[in-house]
Order: sequence, then structure tokens, then C-alpha cells
Amino acid sequence: MEHPENSKEYKGLAVNSGVVQPDSVNPYFQAHRPRRQSLLTPGEYVEGIVKGDITVLSRAVTLVESLRPEHQAIAQEVIEKCLPYTGNSVRIGISGVPGAGKSTSIDEFGLHVLKDGGRLAVLAIDPSSERTKGSILGDKTRMEKLSVHPDAFIRPSPSAGSLGGVARKTRETIVLCEAAGFDKIFVETVGVGQSETAVHSMVDFFLLIQLAGTGDELQGIKRGIMEMADGIVINKADGDNIQKAEMAAQSFRNALHLFPAPESGWTPQVVTYSGFYGLKIKEVWDMIWAYMDFVKKNGYFQFRRNEQAKYWMYESINETLKNSFYNNPDIAAGLEQAEKNVLGGQQTSFTAAQQLLSRYFESLK
Ligand code: GDP
Repeated sequence: MEHPENSKEYKGLAVNSGVVQPDSVNPYFQAHRPRRQSLLTPGEYVEGIVKGDITVLSRAVTLVESLRPEHQAIAQEVIEKCLPYTGNSVRIGISGVPGAGKSTSIDEFGLHVLKDGGRLAVLAIDPSSERTKGSILGDKTRMEKLSVHPDAFIRPSPSAGSLGGVARKTRETIVLCEAAGFDKIFVETVGVGQSETAVHSMVDFFLLIQLAGTGDELQGIKRGIMEMADGIVINKADGDNIQKAEMAAQSFRNALHLFPAPESGWTPQVVTYSGFYGLKIKEVWDMIWAYMDFVKKNGYFQFRRNEQAKYWMYESINETLKNSFYNNPDIAAGLEQAEKNVLGGQQTSFTAAQQLLSRYFESLK
């Protein structure tokens, strides 16, 4: 082979003439390659799930998370067939900044709620997957005790797609978990607002984990997130930190008083605890169970679930319409020009939008 780099004028590294590469295919490789699991029928998935078979449940969740249309078709059928077996659970959203102690706490909370029997599923919505394709919550096993508990099922956040898409998959996974007999569902998230809204729209109780710190606890927490909370807990109330945690709790209580009364009729409470040392875990859960009793009696529990069901119907419609519009080839071709026209001042944003929408509706005829 000609290597101009090897001529005398060339001052860089010389290139050795090549050797014939051995065949890269190991003839024995095929035999050892793990075979793809074949799909079950929707009926088989449902049967396995209803029996509480975790392996089948995991495989069904994988289908829910899959972007392939043929997987989605099966997943939707399975979800629909599981619906009659769902609804008999408590769903609790847990949020806090990285380092607030979510995994440590969820480990302890999980053991606490499993003491009375039942099964717990821990799901997650990781908002970072949308923007950075990375992960804040992490894929490593973060809950060491729960991950080996026979009655716990831990599933990391679905990773692909928009936050709305990820949230929808988590909500669908809740359906499957409930059908498999999980009567307690935790949905964990971390974020600065949007992912909390998504979690709030699928849980009965939204718990915000906070830390005592700078003396200016309320700084940096979006008002909207605090307003969503049904309970605020101050973690790491141990050792020298107990007094600071109590002070932080008091400032949260004061702040909560300034908010309008929540629709549930329940006044959000603030409790201190230590996830790491397992202190006052019972107090946290007494508060959560007191809330459940309260809203089940006054009808808000069912009201909130109905509102959520409606919300997700509209979310689904919105998402499908949006995808249909942006994935339409006519639109994709016209968007760039429309953008230029708007930026160049030849068209207003409104007329450009109207034109594209008309083109879209035309293409449907
Ligand atoms: P996450 O990012 O919210 O999941 O937080 P982690 O559960 O990973 O905890 C972050 C750090 O805080 C770890 O080093 C924990 O050991 C520590 N931590 C968690 N809970 C407590 C607690 O109750 N007390 C103390 N002192 N440290 C804690």
C-alpha cells in the first residue's frame, strides 16, 4: 500500500506497512452470545404479573420503557388488562436535592413500611436524562438494604425521551407494580420544579426532604415545590445537628403558614429525623399515615386520583398531537424556513405558526 507519510520529506511518524489482520470473528462466539429473550404474549405477561412474578414484571416494565412501536403495542395491552387489579396502594413521592439523603432515607423508610407486611416498589423519575443524557439519581444500587429485600422491587428511572415521556412510563409502571401486588409505591425524584410536578401528578402524598444548613433554609427552594409538599422532613437530625434541624423545621412551619390552605384540607407538617441513624423514622410515617386517614375520610384521596387520571389523559393527547405535528414530514421541511422568516422579520410568529398548522391539517386530509 502507498504510504505518502513514509516519503523522506515527511517529518512526522512513519507508518509500517500493514499486516494481514486475523479474522475477527470468533467462530465459537455465536454459541456463547446470550440469546435475546423472546416476547411473551400480552396474556402471559398479565398472568405472570398478577401472580406476582417479579421476572415477568421486570420484563413488562422493559417493554413499557421501550421506544419500539411493537413493544409499545404489547405494553399498552398489558397495562390495560392490568388496570382491574390496580388502585389498592399508597403512592408516595419523595423529593430532595442531591445529597439530601434520599437513598439513605428510602432504605430506612422502606424497611419501616415493610415491617407490617406488604410489598414495596421504588421507582424514580430522573429529570437529568432529558438534557444531559446522564443521570443524577444514578444507576448504581443506592438502596443497599432494600435491594436485597424479598418484598421490594427497585427500578431506576426510565432514561429515554422527554421528561413528560419518562414520567408517563413511570406512571404506567405503577399500574404494573400494583397489579403484581405492590401495595406501597415510592416515586423518587430530584429536580428544580418540573420533575416534582410530574411526580406530584401520580402520587397520593408528596414528601420533600430538606436539610438544615445555612440558617437560610428557605433560600433556593422554589415556592411551587413547597406548595406541592404534603409534608416536609428535615433529614440528618443527629449529633450536633439536632438543634439546627429543629430550627430549620420551625422556619419551614412559619413559611408554610403563609401559603394558602391546600385543597386537601390538610396542613402540611414538618418533622425532623435521621435517615442514616434511623432516628424518628416512625414519626415521619405516623405523619404520612395520619394524612392518608384524613384524606380518605374527607374524600380528597379519591378526588386527587381522579384528577390525576384526567390530567394524564390530557397529557397523553397533548403529547401525541405534538409528536404527530413535529414528526410530519411536511412540517419538518417547513419549520426551518418559517423560523428564518420570523427572524428576518418577513412574517410574524403568529402567521408563521398558522401557516404551518394549516399545512399540517391539510396533510391529514
Ligand atoms: P441522595 O443523593 O439524596 O440520595 O443522598 P444520600 O442518601 O446518598 O446521602 C448523601 C450523604 O449524606 C451520604 O454521605 C449519607 O451517608 C449522608 N446522610 C444521609 N442521611 C444522613 C443522616 O441522617 N445523617 C447524617 N449525618 N448523614 C446522612
